[in-house]
Amino acid sequence: MTPISEEILQVEDLNKSFGRLAACRDISFSLHRGEVLGIVGESGSGKSTLLKCLAGMHAPDRGSVTISVSGDRRSLWNMDEAEREQLLPSMLSLIHQNPRDGLRLDVSAGGNISEPLMTSGERHYGSLRSVALDWLRNVEIDPGRIDDLPKTFSGGMQQRLQIARSLVTHPQLVLMDEPTGGLDVSVQAKLLDLLRRLVREFNLAAVLVTHDLGVARLLSDRLMVMQAGRVIETGLTDRVLEDPRQAYTQLLVSSVL
Ligand code: ADP
Ligand code: MG
Repeated sequence: MTPISEEILQVEDLNKSFGRLAACRDISFSLHRGEVLGIVGESGSGKSTLLKCLAGMHAPDRGSVTISVSGDRRSLWNMDEAEREQLLPSMLSLIHQNPRDGLRLDVSAGGNISEPLMTSGERHYGSLRSVALDWLRNVEIDPGRIDDLPKTFSGGMQQRLQIARSLVTHPQLVLMDEPTGGLDVSVQAKLLDLLRRLVREFNLAAVLVTHDLGVARLLSDRLMVMQAGRVIETGLTDRVLEDPRQAYTQLLVSSVL
């Protein structure tokens, strides 16, 4: 029997509206260490809103988000704002579609990687510069570029830098919103290979939002299909893609794969 790994995230009955528009409705799921959950659905189905509720950026109207922090279960929206801001960086990190949203553009590549370590007070071995060099190698960026600014990097390399900055503090939970969107197909493929390797290497618990079922298939263990703010189907990735039960999922699968 495989041991059951630690539950990292639990979402219960989450609802979020903008005015009269219900962007997320009655959403519940849980996520364990080492597991990647793919959230798929067409544009406007509520994927990013859900992710922002998990990332501490949008307060849900109803429901709870519980994240395990070194064995303690903490309710994200029951703590006060100051505590949330203090705890959040060590609990989770968000990888944005646009690397510029997740990078410090006025800071060197090395500074972008070491900064979260300094602000979180996370322990590390060796100098900050040597940690940054190790991470540049880990995400396959030429370590000779450690002093260069992000704007001198290609889009794919900026995304690698953002990934290094997000993972350097070893967050419990990694949230990714269309991490390979907006990149050339060949660059996307290499980035997906990298993410696959890092997910395994760090046994990450991750939520991956994408409208691209090919991306979801490559990275996710389980899939959650969203339509108009609701989860309409959920299951192991292969099962959902090969034997979709809902008409909408069938349409989604047949129109893309
Ligand atoms: P997805 O990521 O699946 O494309 P979103 O979560 O971005 O979907 O959006 C879901 C719905 O909520 C859409 O109708 C969108 O227009 C609306 N929405 C998202 N963010 C806001 C906001 N800040 N204010 C008002 N409406 C929003
Ligand atoms: Mg979105």
